[in-house]
Amino acid sequence: MNRCMICAKPGDFNGGVCDPCKAKVRGEALEKHSREKKEADRAIHKEGAAGESSKSRG
Ligand SMILES: [Zn+2]
Repeated sequence: MNRCMICAKPGDFNGGVCDPCKAKVRGEALEKHSREKKEADRAIHKEGAAGESSKSRG
């Protein structure tokens, strides 16, 4: 018997993470990936708008 290292629930799963948590982690990873893409997209559109854009420019 193992113990999930995310929700600490005991069970007989492999990898140290229970199935529900595994699915959740996978989903979050995917979401993060798409979010990063969106942020990059927004940064491009931000050009021109008066905002806080002072990150290594030039
Ligand atoms: Zn879990």
